[in-house]
Amino acid sequence: MRRSVLVSGGCGFIGSHLVDRLLRRNDLEKLVVVDNLWTGLRDNIAHVADPRFNLQIADAESFTAGQHFDEIIHLASPASPVWYMREPARTIRANIGGALNLLSLLKPGGRFCFASTSEVYGDPVVSPQPESYRGSVDCTGPRASYDESKRCTEALLFEEQRVSGLDVRVVRLFNTYGPRTRVDDGRAVSNFISQALTTGILTVYGDGSQSRSWGFVDDIVDGLERFFWRDSISHRGPLNIGNNREISVLEIAKFVCSLVPGSRIEHHAPVLQDPTNRCPDLTLARQVLPGWEATIGYQDGIRRTFEWFRREIVTGSKSAALA
Ligand code: UDP
Repeated sequence: MRRSVLVSGGCGFIGSHLVDRLLRRNDLEKLVVVDNLWTGLRDNIAHVADPRFNLQIADAESFTAGQHFDEIIHLASPASPVWYMREPARTIRANIGGALNLLSLLKPGGRFCFASTSEVYGDPVVSPQPESYRGSVDCTGPRASYDESKRCTEALLFEEQRVSGLDVRVVRLFNTYGPRTRVDDGRAVSNFISQALTTGILTVYGDGSQSRSWGFVDDIVDGLERFFWRDSISHRGPLNIGNNREISVLEIAKFVCSLVPGSRIEHHAPVLQDPTNRCPDLTLARQVLPGWEATIGYQDGIRRTFEWFRREIVTGSKSAALA
């Protein structure tokens, strides 16, 4: 069967990599990307020259189409704390409003895929975090627009599955980095690389002992591809996808420093409610996606990302975004 697919947020960092994978599918009849270019960039899909591809500049929460889709992949949302904290209402609209609107564009029997987040675990007191861990999110905290809108969208989808049998696939993505992150994105890896290549001063918030599990985008998108479009999978999620090697922020900053002689680390005040740790329990992922594993270590992944950023910043026009 030839399938029509809609991806919201397909001009974004992860979305654009997923678009590349989707266009390799022989059963793809049509791919519509809906993106309002809030955090996404046209440049991320500028290389796409496939007659099946169609870009619609629109908000996920209000997009209308003259057709229904076999598969919808809802990724539209900022993922960097800097960006979502700046516009919390818009973040909530993109996630929850986007899901509500896009559900109305799904064909009966179609599949709805959603990128949720490890942020649903809040500042976890269990490590590593299995999908069954309910987390500890503060709904009045500075990260709430993102965390709670992801949680609520999960609730919407699993409840739709319960009452109407909706075919859902929900992943919880852990920290992801790699080429096509905005140079002004503000998350740790991209910020450190941008800073090393421009000011030479890397801003570590607090003492840098807080940890994350850093997943290179190719590994992460590989997991998404396997989970989102394999018909044979019966598990509907939530499913943790990430690299389970937990490394401190300071170690990441030191490694980036080692790539640029003369760069240095500056410690800044800790960020309010910054989670102290984050690590996926991948037991379920190994069962559901046999053979999938995040294989690219942080040194290799950061080197690859660094080379991409160097081209963007030094030879491209992106340095203006950092000003
Ligand atoms: N971080 C930092 N300096 C930066 C950006 C981030 O020390 O310039 C820290 C941040 O405080 C957090 C970790 O790096 O502890 C990961 O932050 P990021 O924004 O990448 O993602 P998060 O997991 O917090 O959503």
